[in-house]
Amino acid sequence: MASKKGRGDQPFVPVSKDKQREAERKFCGFKWVTKGQTMPNSNGNFLMECKLCGQGFQGSQTKAAQHFTIKNNCPKIFVEQMAEIWNKTKYGFDPSHARKIMDFLKSRGLRDNRCGSGREPAGNVEFEDSEEERRAVEVGDDDGESDAEDMEVRREVE
Ligand SMILES: [Zn+2]
Repeated sequence: MASKKGRGDQPFVPVSKDKQREAERKFCGFKWVTKGQTMPNSNGNFLMECKLCGQGFQGSQTKAAQHFTIKNNCPKIFVEQMAEIWNKTKYGFDPSHARKIMDFLKSRGLRDNRCGSGREPAGNVEFEDSEEERRAVEVGDDDGESDAEDMEVRREVE
């Protein structure tokens, strides 16, 4: 019933202050992203709205991080903010940002938490995704299993 792709016509409903704070604890980038309602049939993906540039998007915590870490990232984020994500998370940054962030930390005499260990390859970002997400995936798996069971039953009957 609910269209998976219809994010345009979906009104944005921010989560409660508690939920927002919880999201910020898991990922500091949520300080700049308002978390919205979870979408039905979307593996726990939720709507988000960037507080900095006003852009709305849909996805998981990883998607929120990508808004700040990819090459064409949030047009309004400052290097200070990227540096916070850099030091507090393991999300991979586009190399052009990584350079800027490292220069910034060095120029301010700030600690670079990633220094020495090298940059994580972008594909290897096994950052703890929210439990919510995992739970949602499990729900999706349940559906798949029940389908498979139906088929087996049918095969046995034949
Ligand atoms: Zn933004």
